[in-house]
Amino acid sequence: MLGKLETVFSYAAHFILQSWPEKRPGILFLTDSTGRVINTMDMQVGQPWKPQELDLSLHAAPAGKMYDPVKSALHSGEIAVATYAENSLVLAVFPLRERDGYVRATIGIAAPQEEISFDLASYMRGLEPLIRMGYDAYIQHATSQIIMELSVHDTTRSLLSNLTGEIAEVIQKGYCSAVKLSENGTLLMHDMVTTEAVDKEQSQISQIVAELGTSPIAPAILKENRLIIMPVSWNKKMLYGLFLHLSPDETDCVYDERDVAFLQEVADKASSALWRVMMSEELRREANKKNLLYQLMSKIQASIDVNDVLHEIVTSIPSLYPNYSVDLFLTVEPDATTPVKQLSLQEERGSTSTRAYLEGHLIVEDIVENGQAKTVIAAPLLGKQGIYGVLQITSDQVVSPSPYETDYISILADTAGKAFENAQLYQQSRNLIRELRLINEMARQLNRSLNLSEILEFVTTMMRATFDAEFCALLRKEPGEESFEVLAASIPEYTGKIVTANEKPFQQILQNKQTLLLAQPGSGPLPFSLVPSCSLMGVPLIVEGEISGVLLVADSRYHFFSFDDYKLLEIFGQHASLAMTNAVLHTEMERMVITDNLTSLYTRRHLNERVRASLEQDSHGSLILIDIDYFKQVNDTFGHQVGDEVLIQVSNLIRQSIRDTDIAARWGGEELAVYLPRVDEATAHAVAERIRRCVEMETSPQVTISSGLAKWNKEIDANLSVEALFYQADLALYEAKNSGRNQVVLA
Ligand code: GH3
Ligand code: MG
Ligand code: MG
Repeated sequence: MLGKLETVFSYAAHFILQSWPEKRPGILFLTDSTGRVINTMDMQVGQPWKPQELDLSLHAAPAGKMYDPVKSALHSGEIAVATYAENSLVLAVFPLRERDGYVRATIGIAAPQEEISFDLASYMRGLEPLIRMGYDAYIQHATSQIIMELSVHDTTRSLLSNLTGEIAEVIQKGYCSAVKLSENGTLLMHDMVTTEAVDKEQSQISQIVAELGTSPIAPAILKENRLIIMPVSWNKKMLYGLFLHLSPDETDCVYDERDVAFLQEVADKASSALWRVMMSEELRREANKKNLLYQLMSKIQASIDVNDVLHEIVTSIPSLYPNYSVDLFLTVEPDATTPVKQLSLQEERGSTSTRAYLEGHLIVEDIVENGQAKTVIAAPLLGKQGIYGVLQITSDQVVSPSPYETDYISILADTAGKAFENAQLYQQSRNLIRELRLINEMARQLNRSLNLSEILEFVTTMMRATFDAEFCALLRKEPGEESFEVLAASIPEYTGKIVTANEKPFQQILQNKQTLLLAQPGSGPLPFSLVPSCSLMGVPLIVEGEISGVLLVADSRYHFFSFDDYKLLEIFGQHASLAMTNAVLHTEMERMVITDNLTSLYTRRHLNERVRASLEQDSHGSLILIDIDYFKQVNDTFGHQVGDEVLIQVSNLIRQSIRDTDIAARWGGEELAVYLPRVDEATAHAVAERIRRCVEMETSPQVTISSGLAKWNKEIDANLSVEALFYQADLALYEAKNSGRNQVVLA
């Protein structure tokens, strides 16, 4: 049965009443397949006929004998007529037989017997064409009603959901769905509307579309009249496919040619409205796209932040292509915050994107991925100076984009490329300025100091401020040693820790004498015992051609350091190395100036300065002047060189006999001196005696020494000069020589 029973009945009734002889009372009624009365109507308009005996109450089967002809017509499918003389009533029932043979309803007429002067049975037989006319009128009317309603829609989706809903309402069984068609008539499954009340994925229509595959569709009646397909086209352009499909539970009916005819009618008449809405939607979409492109362009061209540009592209383009996946590939390694992928240039047979990048123009290609055919559109991000990546748009099935569409995507990609380039250039110049500033500041600071520990401290502070890493440290390698010691670190507890030089980062640095950047994406923390890290940079500190240490920065995040950081650390290393070399040389030179070449004791000049300083600062002190006895004889007997060796022996013995705070110097020739700040005469005498004994016992060839000892005390000797103190000691020495040598004489 097409349409709701009552509705079809009302159309058929119109024709039945017109054929009914004039001024004859009667009642026309409709029952469903169970015999329940669904509708009644007076045969004589405006003249109700209400015999008491007749019970045709709605929603109940006719009472008593009245039911017999209904039952009989339902059962046999033949017209049944009964006359009830006792009530002078006549009843005739016409079975509405479907094409499939089922009787789904009956139309009955009850009339007073005396009014019926004609053969009611033959009259009933004449009803059939009237009922068909009623059907046709209903279909015509329903169709035009549906088509009229379509004009109010301004989106394809609302038009289609209205259309399928109305069709299902008329068909009265199963579901109605509409699936978008490609230009060549294949089903585009991402765009569909259905009256089924389930998720798109679970719907029967999705299954049907999947079964039908990718060949173009044509009008068809399939699955033993349980599936009807009707393409809607306009001017030979395929628009949508209309489907009628019965759910597997609906086993008591199938579709018949009347359903097909109706669907055909609706499909024909709805096509222009559908076309119009699709076109206006297309136009709106184009306008929207232009608008979006404009907005995107003005936004990204104003942006000087590379990350902002990428974000804008990746977030706004998908809204233009809701049924596609949009990916952005870059040739540079993306950092963690950017929603882009890295373009792989190593694949054997390049992907569409790789080829678009290499060839420098847009590529449209159908591919098969995981058994699914797809279309990939890849457009290079073109800048003035190069290609920065690829914008890739992938549909989940095969489509053929128009030249207009590909042009649009090219423009998008070009815009993105130029904006990316601008932002990158801007960022590069800013980075350059930052680096120059830093290097300048570092050079200035480092040149100010020749003090090694100050330099180390400064370098560590600078590293921490510049790289913002979780860990930075300066490690020292002693020449010849196979380990590194942490001299300074951003985390104080690490100071003093020892790492062996055969660990990977150090080994590499030692081997290549180059800055090292380690970042293994996704492969877990680096094998480095000092600090757990996923990103690590190290630069060797090279002093006088040898690796004397390493600057290290590390972080637990992947890809924490950029190539710019790497270059900056390299410059850091060079400056720090230079500053350290300078400091080492300076310290060495200072040492040389105040050290006697032969004996490694201090020079006379340095001793003088220290004594002068002590005379000013301290309260007291002692000075021992030493002269080797008969040294000339040593020279004469053993030669000058042995004389020198003896002199060195004596110097070493002196050095061993005094404390760090005491100052031993070569006073001249074979005369030596020891100054003991804040040491009284008695103690100094003991020291002098100890030295004398040592020399006597331990020199070879054996020599002895004579010493003169002078002391001073601020309370007694205010404003004593260095020369005066030496003079006193010299006098005492003279005394010692005269008194037989190998002795200490107090001034
Ligand atoms: P004494 O001091 O006991 O009076 O006798 P002496 O032989 O040591 O005499 P004096 O101190 O006057 O002579 C110092 C000699 O030491 C003179 C010089 O040949 C020698 N002499 C001075 N400086 C050096 C030196 O650097 N190396 C060597 N081998 N000899 C030196
Ligand atoms: Mg002498
Ligand atoms: Mg001498």
